[in-house]
Amino acid sequence: MLVMKFGGTSVETAEAIGRVAEIVRQRVAMRPVVVVSAMGKTTNKLLAIGHRAIAGEVAAALAGLAELRDFHLHESDGLETVTGLFDQLSSLVNGLAVIGELTPRATDALCSFGERISSLIVTALFRKRGIDAVHIDARDLIVTDKRHTQAAPVWAQTNARLAKALPDLASAHVVVMGGFIASTEEGVTTTLGRGGSDYTASIVGAGIGAQEIQIWTDVDGILTADPTILPGGYRVKVCSFAEAAELAYFGAKVLHPATVLPASEKNIPVRILNSRRSEVEGTLIVSHPPASSTPIRSIACKRNITLMNIVSSRMLMAHGFLRRIFEVFDRFETPVDMLATSEVSVSLTVDNAGWLEAIRREIETFAEVSVEENQAIICLVGENIRNSPGVSPRLFTALGGTKARMVSQGASQLNISLVVAGGDLVRAVESLHREFFRSPDPASFAF
Ligand code: ADP
Ligand code: ASP
Ligand code: MG
Repeated sequence: MLVMKFGGTSVETAEAIGRVAEIVRQRVAMRPVVVVSAMGKTTNKLLAIGHRAIAGEVAAALAGLAELRDFHLHESDGLETVTGLFDQLSSLVNGLAVIGELTPRATDALCSFGERISSLIVTALFRKRGIDAVHIDARDLIVTDKRHTQAAPVWAQTNARLAKALPDLASAHVVVMGGFIASTEEGVTTTLGRGGSDYTASIVGAGIGAQEIQIWTDVDGILTADPTILPGGYRVKVCSFAEAAELAYFGAKVLHPATVLPASEKNIPVRILNSRRSEVEGTLIVSHPPASSTPIRSIACKRNITLMNIVSSRMLMAHGFLRRIFEVFDRFETPVDMLATSEVSVSLTVDNAGWLEAIRREIETFAEVSVEENQAIICLVGENIRNSPGVSPRLFTALGGTKARMVSQGASQLNISLVVAGGDLVRAVESLHREFFRSPDPASFAF
């Protein structure tokens, strides 16, 4: 079996879904299970509608909803099931307007409509083109905990349901399901976090022991730099699970960070492919890719990072100082990405700044805190870094006059990360890319 996941741009219109249908048709013999995202930017639009509704801008919310409905009905030729779902959605939006509050649970209910609707439309358009497609509701298969908006799978139940439902169905039909959406044991709708359709694909792939998990998107594969920062990077032909996970964690949106784990545990290869250029080989992610003479695989970036400097009020770093700091972050469920310490100070970076003010106030009861916003993390990723002497000196030479606020290389030697001011990001990535991809190994990169 094969799992094929198509992202928002790959299913953004009926025409795009037509291209997807031809890609799937060519692989029918491999018994594909097709996982789809919401069409285009539907998830963002649903959230905007929800926020308008609770802010009392009901007319604007309903206008947004009508536009979304017209679009989906137009692309699906007035599919009846889609009309029904929009009626339900309409009741939900009116309810939100009355209650005036968008709880995490309601957010999941709202967002789930994107994938519920897109998966029905994809099934119908496949059938119209003669593909024997059947729809299955992902919420009946993927069971999660109750952490709404970022729920985690309950593996035993999920795997049991996948194994029971899918292999037989997929041997006779092309199975189509929505990504991103799931439900609790009690049947309450949850979601796996933004970008979570990739994760659905790997949960399903691991659950049914698929031969390969394919992530079809709008780029040729993993590129040597984030194309929104540096266009014209090279395609990474092959990389390891560990490298892909590290890149995703440090901002490469092409893959949801949780995607790699289920696949790597079952040693199922993951392939990133372009649904508009299906002839390109993409990026293959495996446990042990062949050796490369290039020390790094790719450069990932995270924008809008906050840097926090914490100085112990006592002269020396007292015993228990780090523990006290991390207890505060733990209590506010705020992850720390990078960390550097000296005898009296700790610098760390935070991506999710939602609780930053509260965290700051608590830490200020025992230390001095300063916060710098609009910073960026640049992360050079490559398992080959550990075998390549001189990566750090090359990095500093390439940076030239650009100031690195913080640098860290973990014990795994899988990455070297640095923090620069947001305004220096593009220039720094350009310089680093020029330095490290001067003559990339043609066995590992396509250009
Ligand atoms: P989908 O809707 O198919 O899930 P996403 O927008 O989530 O697509 O992910 C694809 C995007 O990831 C690309 O369009 C690109 O802008 C971004 N991206 C960031 N870093 C990289 C990278 N290193 N290689 C490829 N794409 C990247
Ligand atoms: N539609 C969801 C989102 O936009 C999930 C996904 O596309 O992966 O976050
Ligand atoms: Mg995505």
